[in-house]
Amino acid sequence: MLQCPQCGSETFYIEREDRVVYFSVNEAGEAVDVMPPEEAVVLSPDTIIYCTVCTWNGVAGELKQDV
Ligand SMILES: [Zn+2]
Repeated sequence: MLQCPQCGSETFYIEREDRVVYFSVNEAGEAVDVMPPEEAVVLSPDTIIYCTVCTWNGVAGELKQDV
């Protein structure tokens, strides 16, 4: 899984109209382990995502590899 560049968390979220959707991002830059699972999350290069732990937000391309 890719990690937050600030704190190393592997859980992120996006805000939709009426709910918050949580997920992790795999090495291919795809959202996985989406919660709630019926929400489809497609990350485009300019989709802003938010870290659940710290104040970081940005695009999936800024996440760091788990080493
Ligand atoms: Zn973070």
